[in-house]
Amino acid sequence: MDPKSTEPAANFIRQIVSGDVAAQKYARQITTRFPPEPNGYLHIGHAKSIWLNFSIANEFEGICNLRLDDTNPDKESDEYAHAIAEDVRWLGFDWEQRLFHASDYFAQLYEFACELIVGGNAYVDSQSAEQIREQRGSLTEAGVNSPFRDRDVATNLDLFKRMRAGEFDEGAHILRARIDMASPNINMRDPALYRIRKTAHQRTGDEWPIYPMYDFTHCVSDALEGVTHSLCTLEFEDHRPLYDWVLDTLTVPCHPQQIEFARLELNYTITSKRKLLELVEEHIVDGWDDPRLPTLKGMRRRGYPAAALRDFCDRIGVTKKQTVIDTGVLENCVREALDSSAPRAMAVLRPLKIVLTNFPVDQTESFEVQNHPKDTAFGTRKVSLTREIYIERDDFMLEPVKKFHRLAPGREVRLRYGYVIRCDEVITDSVGEISELRCSYDPLTGGGQTPDGRKVKGIIHWVSADLGIPLRVHLLDRLFNHPDPGSAEDYRKHLNPDSRVTLDGAFGEPMLAASDGAMFQFERLGYFCRDTVAAADGRTVFNRTVTLRDAWAKLTASASSSA
Ligand code: ATP
Ligand code: MG
Repeated sequence: MDPKSTEPAANFIRQIVSGDVAAQKYARQITTRFPPEPNGYLHIGHAKSIWLNFSIANEFEGICNLRLDDTNPDKESDEYAHAIAEDVRWLGFDWEQRLFHASDYFAQLYEFACELIVGGNAYVDSQSAEQIREQRGSLTEAGVNSPFRDRDVATNLDLFKRMRAGEFDEGAHILRARIDMASPNINMRDPALYRIRKTAHQRTGDEWPIYPMYDFTHCVSDALEGVTHSLCTLEFEDHRPLYDWVLDTLTVPCHPQQIEFARLELNYTITSKRKLLELVEEHIVDGWDDPRLPTLKGMRRRGYPAAALRDFCDRIGVTKKQTVIDTGVLENCVREALDSSAPRAMAVLRPLKIVLTNFPVDQTESFEVQNHPKDTAFGTRKVSLTREIYIERDDFMLEPVKKFHRLAPGREVRLRYGYVIRCDEVITDSVGEISELRCSYDPLTGGGQTPDGRKVKGIIHWVSADLGIPLRVHLLDRLFNHPDPGSAEDYRKHLNPDSRVTLDGAFGEPMLAASDGAMFQFERLGYFCRDTVAAADGRTVFNRTVTLRDAWAKLTASASSSA
């Protein structure tokens, strides 16, 4: 199947919007919004929602607002709010002047609540939270009416105004919608609309001792912004009758259409905000931007291009049915994006020193090489050979196994861009470890030539020991080794011990220290991104963004074929 083809089902939201446009259902432009709560950092799941809302708006020449859903000051902060805006921008989307906050509407929400009371559609309940919970009933049993349900309008208005004036303690009263305690939908059993909370708000300070609940805030905010399509995840499907009830009952400017879609779930990944916070607070990871996290900050630091995330969202499509996406799909999008956007370089992660015994001391020979094999726009650079070089330890075998075409005693191999070398002598240290190889190079084999036609199968990468710069390299891998860590009893027990392997002895070409172009394909090794922080000793640090091939797919395939 062409991964870029989208089946009709994948486009059901587009189809709805396109039908509405054709039917001229709205006198205004198509308007969507991305409504995060500023209580954490955005992750890959949010990326899907951002992409969906903004791309629908773009496609139909509409607009998408960024709205911070800030009605719970206990858990929210400006730090999160700023990070959210930065992440949405990084992902490549623009809300122009339309950064809104639910708190912008506190005064209007209050007036709408009064309108509900006046219309006999809301009442102040003075029972405890526990009593209210007990009366809610269950899926099989109807709820019980509150003894305060029939309070008269004047009393309700008076109590609500005094709640707003800060006269009561938290929990003394709440404002509830007056709908139907026998509704089969529990969300319709007189849901809470306002609660008393004496916490200062990051934007409105001490102005409000009461805060509106999500279900009341969200639909009214949508209506006030003239949203046409309010896209949300499936868990809100059961809230839609309440969304519609509030908007039908009030004299709001318009009635947006709520449409639900399945959340993005990735295997081997946790996207619960609460668990991500635990990972950060318990120092299981280094912070919100730990490059192993599925946060946008983490993925950005790891080197995932924003374009790869957009491409990923596009490919997986939008459905009504909850599925789990293989993390390999995301990694493939990253690989594809980087294949065309990352220049190539040579680095040696686990170095083995070679002395080219017939190469003059103090001589440097440079080769002009392409920075990208398929794109000359990346230009060229000089790669310099000296008498001492490093190669990858793996590229040498004392006793080569079958099909090993790289270096071994007496054998030849070609240095990438350079000459053919032959291993003449193996030097071991006092404990018998191989410490160095003595090789000779064949000066007639430059520029890919082997004048006598002899076969040299292997080509290996290398770095000049004199000119190369020391690197610290983190080989990053999935944070969890359980396909569904979120469902495990304790996800902490399924951390992948190899999610970050640090190699401190690596070397790379000198240009890797330059500040621009932080993304490279290290030839034969994978894609690597310069870390935003250098090592304590000033060394340049690289994180492996993604391997060249999907090693997990192979593991999964061999595990299932051996089963
Ligand atoms: P919570 O509400 O528990 O704090 P949340 O992940 O829903 O967590 P929000 O800030 O409310 O966080 O999310 C903002 C928007 O992103 C919502 O519209 C939500 O539906 C959407 N969203 C969150 N997680 C996903 C996901 N995994 N896939 C798609 N959309 C998501
Ligand atoms: Mg939410």
